[in-house]
Amino acid sequence: MASASGSPSPKSSTPLGQGASPRVRFCPSPTGNPHVGLVRTALFNWAFARHTGGTMVFRIEDTDAARDSEESYHQLLDSLRWLGLDWDEGPDEVGGPHAPYRQSQRMDIYADVAKKLRDAGHAYDCYCTTAELDERREAARKAGRPSGYDGHCRALTAEQTEAYRAEGRTSIVRFRMPDETITFTDLVRGDLSFAPENVPDFGIVRANGAPLYTLVNPVDDALMEITHVLRGEDLLSSTPRQIALYQALIEIGVAKDVPLFGHLPYVMGEGNKKLSKRDPEASLNLYRERGFLPEGLLNYLSLLGWSFSADKDIFTVAELVEKFDIADVNANPARFDLKKAEAINADHIRLLDVKTFTEACTPWLRAPHANWPAENFDQAAWEAIAPYAQTRLTVLSDITANVDFLFRDTPVDDEASWAKAMKGDPIALLTTARANLADADWSSPEALKAAVLAAGEQHGLKLGKAQAPVRVAVTGRTVGLPLFESLQILGRERSLARIDAALAKLSA
Ligand code: GLU
Ligand code: ZN
Repeated sequence: MASASGSPSPKSSTPLGQGASPRVRFCPSPTGNPHVGLVRTALFNWAFARHTGGTMVFRIEDTDAARDSEESYHQLLDSLRWLGLDWDEGPDEVGGPHAPYRQSQRMDIYADVAKKLRDAGHAYDCYCTTAELDERREAARKAGRPSGYDGHCRALTAEQTEAYRAEGRTSIVRFRMPDETITFTDLVRGDLSFAPENVPDFGIVRANGAPLYTLVNPVDDALMEITHVLRGEDLLSSTPRQIALYQALIEIGVAKDVPLFGHLPYVMGEGNKKLSKRDPEASLNLYRERGFLPEGLLNYLSLLGWSFSADKDIFTVAELVEKFDIADVNANPARFDLKKAEAINADHIRLLDVKTFTEACTPWLRAPHANWPAENFDQAAWEAIAPYAQTRLTVLSDITANVDFLFRDTPVDDEASWAKAMKGDPIALLTTARANLADADWSSPEALKAAVLAAGEQHGLKLGKAQAPVRVAVTGRTVGLPLFESLQILGRERSLARIDAALAKLSA
């Protein structure tokens, strides 16, 4: 299972028993905007915790003051809340038995563990300068030897140490890797092993005393009793080091067990390159601003390395939780497909009950950027048209173009639509249609349809051809929501006035 081979104390490093309740963690560094790769990691951990009845720990890895920001931290909290990915232990008001959950508030803990590792001989002071390291690495490379740290300071005598100090050198703390192959069974990738020459001794504390990711991440996983580390494949190379560090932590009484590891597949973007967090389509905020539903986005992101079943790719979050198993995650890279994400979101929009849909669109309808004067918005008209709009949207932000005819003083002015619809003798057709509509029963969309149909018949046009000029006269667009319901909701006065305006424009 997950313990490193040749563990010096097999008793204490027994992998987790079947009965233990899983504890997983999501532990981002608050740098920049949340991106979809990060959300996929959060989602898989969360789904695993909820599926197994385990515990979701949310930890903030903010030990790099130069890169971390408070703004990014707040964005992370806000994003997870928007997505509904809740946590059982973590920062903010949630708290928990292992608080604090922000690493910047845990510096004393790391200093203490580093000292214990050093005292027990698992770590040592390394006085090598960057120039010396570079030079020896270059020489090793030329000689065809492994070019990682060469163990130069592993066994310095008191005199050598004294001499280095007298020279005014500073030292970092380096972890002493065991001289043996590290093997473990990845939950996604199966058995993996790493030969010692590929995993050299590594720094855990900087010369200025600042602890590094290599130390704080496994130390907190140990102290927070994490049982399953599910994270991106990009972190796979740090896993053998962390397993060795765990063994040392077990020996000094800081850790109980080595967790199991599962490395989630890369997410590929355009041109089969790894999706970078700097790619615009990777930004979570973009999806939120366009009006993806949390459940639509989660549905799509869950398919990046996992599948529900061969014939079902639309499912609810509850279904995902019920079905999710880390053993079903595929090790092959997953391709990020925006069109598929949009199609899945469109399906989720259709699944909403009308009331929820009506409310979900409100932020876009009320936003100041919407293309009508804010005071024109009419809640009753919106509620009347909403059921017809629901089947038309890919993302919620599409709503404004679908209903703007209701709230604008005049239809949108779109020359291409006008030219396309106003063919043949539009004046004759619109004049008849207007007269028929003026006499029609406006309480019935069927009656309005009959009015336009009759006008078409009189001029030798089928319904489709007859309604196109009416639609463009009233909405400005050639495509849109069902026309006769639209006319009814817009109302008799305004509809007829718009047809009059179109007739005036045609005659001008
Ligand atoms: N803070 C690390 C990162 O964001 C976490 C890595 C891990 O999950 O172990 O890359
Ligand atoms: Zn050294």
